Amino acid sequence: MQADRLLCINGEFVSPRQGAFFETFNPGTGAVIGRVAQAGPQDVDAAVAAARAALPAWKALGGTGRGRVLRALADTLRAHRQELAELEALDGGKPIAETPEADVDSGADCLEYFAGQAASFQGEYQEVEGGFFYTRPEPLGVCAGIGAWNYPLQIACWKSAPALAAGNTMVFKPSELTPLSALRFAELAKQAGVPDGVINVIPGFGDVGQALSRHPDVDKISLTGGVDTGKKVMADAASTLKAVSLELGGKSPLIIFDDADLDDAVSGALLANFYTQGEICTNGTRVFVHESIRGAFLERLLERIRKLRIGDPMDPASDIGAMISENHMHHVLSYIEAGKAAGAQCLIGGKQATVEGCENGWYVEPTVFDGCTDDMQIVREEIFGPVMSVLSFSDETEVVARANDTPFGLAAGLFTRDIERAHRVAGDLEAGIVWINHYNLSPIEMPFGGVKQSGIGKENSRRAMEYYSRLKSVFVARGAVEAPY
Ligand code: NAD
Repeated sequence: MQADRLLCINGEFVSPRQGAFFETFNPGTGAVIGRVAQAGPQDVDAAVAAARAALPAWKALGGTGRGRVLRALADTLRAHRQELAELEALDGGKPIAETPEADVDSGADCLEYFAGQAASFQGEYQEVEGGFFYTRPEPLGVCAGIGAWNYPLQIACWKSAPALAAGNTMVFKPSELTPLSALRFAELAKQAGVPDGVINVIPGFGDVGQALSRHPDVDKISLTGGVDTGKKVMADAASTLKAVSLELGGKSPLIIFDDADLDDAVSGALLANFYTQGEICTNGTRVFVHESIRGAFLERLLERIRKLRIGDPMDPASDIGAMISENHMHHVLSYIEAGKAAGAQCLIGGKQATVEGCENGWYVEPTVFDGCTDDMQIVREEIFGPVMSVLSFSDETEVVARANDTPFGLAAGLFTRDIERAHRVAGDLEAGIVWINHYNLSPIEMPFGGVKQSGIGKENSRRAMEYYSRLKSVFVARGAVEAPY
């Protein structure tokens, strides 16, 4: 058992005012890792006040100065790569084979990228009749981030880095299921020289997120989570009309045309469904395969899936780790049962998995359903587990219409060698992100975010700074004032 983990408020690690703690679990074994402080309303107020007090000095540091601090934090993260990778695998059930790159490096890349952006965050200047104007991008103030459990450290970085680069301060609430890496992030931020109060981390449940969304002294809320939570956050934020960014769920399509490179398409489908045991918001879980190549595609797909190793997330040989919680495992298994009951054919997997030495862990076999129809529950709803639905199609117009027939619009993918079709279909798909001949790559330079009910706003790229700033227009007159009075 680790020592109790405390709240990070104003650069200090403090006990919660109401004295409440909750347990965090290792999904690979089902064992308790330790106790974590649970923020209450007074802690939320204290964190917001600390972030408010830290604003003037942080803003006054200027872009170059803030960039230097963010760069130091990126280096500190990289210096603790292995430790953070292990923490993420331990608390999140993700295979240790993934976490150094997918979690730690992607978080550090983000800090490094926005360190570079901070100094060049410029306004514009234009001559107009009667004078000129310029624009000033200004920080919003206190930003609150609310995280999901699937990429805890990465989400903390994706929200903090652009916010801080633009001159804001941050109060971050990690998911109650994975609070450890964000708290370690706060410690490392202090070590790297981030001034006290600039990053505050307050673990807790939905009520903490709600208090932040409703808080009159929070200027911006950025959530990564489910669609229903997004709707609540937006409604709560409306009471103070604070700015809102929402990174929500999806049920993304992956279309494999008859001229696709079949091995690449199979690799894409595997990445789109089984990386992080399927717990990725952008996953392409509706796999539309042209009817003429369906047999060959399935044969190669199953051959590759048979080689996947489900195992202890801490074992470097494991490809597939554990579901985040026992509840979530049962949730995923209930979808699998619904697929079977609806008449979909389960080609592989379809059950809970037992891992030797980790008998109390929460594992689900990588599962593929064939013979799916568009109206099945497994095809319409986000499962957030290792469950792929394969659907057949014969014609481009038909498949694009079916791909778009969903309230979600986070991501989409397509495999084809026809360059014209690739760009035409990419244009026609209703999604915030489209991958051509690959899946799930998210370089920090590329805007990330969904449309329709998958979200509002963009993370990563220069665009993200726009969601953490407001533009002031300053008009400067030349000449006498001609008043009509
Ligand atoms: P969730 O919506 O249950 O929880 C997300 C966060 O919101 C948690 O920190 C939770 O405590 C908090 N929360 C819960 N109720 C709240 C409320 N009323 N007000 C404010 N905050 C509240 O989601 P989850 O189960 O942690 O994560 C899985 C979901 O997140 C999936 O739907 C997935 O697609 C989505 N997700 C999206 C992205 C993206 O970038 N688009 C990335 C990762 C996960």
